[in-house]
Order: sequence, then structure tokens, then C-alpha cells
Amino acid sequence: MIDLHCDILYRLAEDGGSLINNKCQFDVGRAEKAGLNLQFLALFTNAEANMGNKVIDRQIGIFFQALEDNPKLKLIRRYRDVSENFQRNSFSCLLHLENGAVLQESTERLQELYNKGIRSLGLTWNYRNGLADGVNEEDDQGITKAGRNIIGAMLDMGMILDLAHISERSFFQALDLYPKPVLVTHANAYGICPHKRNLKDQQLKKLAEHEGAVGVTLVTDFVAASDDKPADTDKLMDHFVYIADLIGPEHIALGSDFDGADDMVMAGVEQYAEWEPLFLRRGFSKREIDMIMRNNALRILSAII
Ligand SMILES: [Zn+2]
Repeated sequence: MIDLHCDILYRLAEDGGSLINNKCQFDVGRAEKAGLNLQFLALFTNAEANMGNKVIDRQIGIFFQALEDNPKLKLIRRYRDVSENFQRNSFSCLLHLENGAVLQESTERLQELYNKGIRSLGLTWNYRNGLADGVNEEDDQGITKAGRNIIGAMLDMGMILDLAHISERSFFQALDLYPKPVLVTHANAYGICPHKRNLKDQQLKKLAEHEGAVGVTLVTDFVAASDDKPADTDKLMDHFVYIADLIGPEHIALGSDFDGADDMVMAGVEQYAEWEPLFLRRGFSKREIDMIMRNNALRILSAII
């Protein structure tokens, strides 16, 4: 299985603890047991400039220390690494920068991070920065000139573009600027739960046209509105069914957002072990489940990194 989003490095930088074994929602030990082979790990900060870069460097440091201490853990730098690691039974991690504000519009800083092993970037978090607007901006200005430069550099380097958190206008502009498949690593269907962070039907259709995929997320706020049914696994499955009906199961992946929020549909990563029957019960075939759990993400990784 592959999961496209997790904030454990941010948590560990704040509170300490081990990537392999901890009391947070995600650790590698429980992930492996549940059948996960590859986890995208977010580097996150809300701060900009020097302060933000210090926070990001600290999270990178925690990851590389864990890599050194645990031979089973591997960093994905190119697609070839993925299949090699799967064969060797290693646990793969892909590093993602969630919020391009710390780049301060510099393609040199992006290149530096690429050289360290970062292979995925989200231009914004929920707010405006020098690159684009986030979902919380009322007056949506879209992508800036600097944002366009960064997207160009990402294409040259072979970096995954993640459109989670980005404003609607920026979303459509980004897809025009980035011809390869993109990911929305953690978001759900607005048609089921009308939250700003979720994707409207038009966005989902556009994502499918670009051969991209959305990682369905477990954050309860994005699963069910407060006046709706409870945000449980049944309601979560409604999102999978809705998106599959609209754009097909080849555009769906998993994007838990473990340790990115307190209230989640699943208590922790160990519960991924119980997922297959949930899909079977809702009419997904074995082949479709494999697509959602792994193959769609692999297809997109192979096209980019
Ligand atoms: Zn996020």
C-alpha cells in the first residue's frame, strides 16, 4: 500500500520521539504491519523565510537520522528505487514540502531541496504566499509569476506537483502550466462534504483529464459536515464511491493526513489492515482496490520522478 500524506515529521520535531515506534497516529513499525510499503512524509511549516527554513531543516534532519539508524528505511529519489525497495521489503519514504513559502520564490532553494531528496511540492498551504493563493483566500488571485517559475523548475527537475490546499483558481492555472499528472495528496469530494479543502466536481474532472489522482483523507472535517451523518468509515467510503462514479477508480489513492489533525476517521495507521473488506462491501473489485491502494500512485510516480 501507498499513502500520500502524513505529518509525523512535524510532530516529532515539536514533541520528540521515534519515526519507527511512537504513540502518534503514524509510525513505521505499525505501518509495515498494516501492509504499507511507501509513505509520503510532509515537511511542514507555516513560518516563512529563515525561521521557516530552520523548521524544515530540522524535520529533514530528523528524517535522515532515522534513515541512518534504520537500514530497513529507504528514501525514494527516483522511480527505480520504488520497485527495488518493494522487492527487498524495505519501507520507502518520499519527502514532500508542504507549503512553498519557505522557498522565498527561489528556484535555487528548490534545487537545494531536490538535491537533498525532496521529490514533491505543494505551492501553498491554506493562505497566500509568493507563489499562489491557498483555499482560505477569499480574493483568489491565482498563481504568481514566481509560482510559474517554480512550476517550470519542477518540470525540469522531475518533481511531483501536489495541489492539496491550493485555491480553486490556482488549481486550474497549475494544471495548465504542468502537463504531467498531478496529485492532490489529501482531500475529499466537495459533493459529499462541502468543505473548502475538498475538490468540487469540476476540479475532480480536470484532475482526471490530466491523469492525476486524489488521495482520500481521513480528517473528519473533510469527511462529513457537522450537520451530516457522523464521520466514520462508512461515510469515508461514500467519498471513494462518489469519486469513482464521477471520474473512475484510476484517479483515487490514499492520503490519510495522519498526525496532521487530531480527529480522524481511523485512530492510527494500524487500521489500514482492516480496509480491504470496506471496499469489497461497497462493490469495488480486487483490481480496483489494488489501483486505489497502490497502482495509481505508482503510475504517477513513474511518470515524474
Ligand atoms: Zn495538509
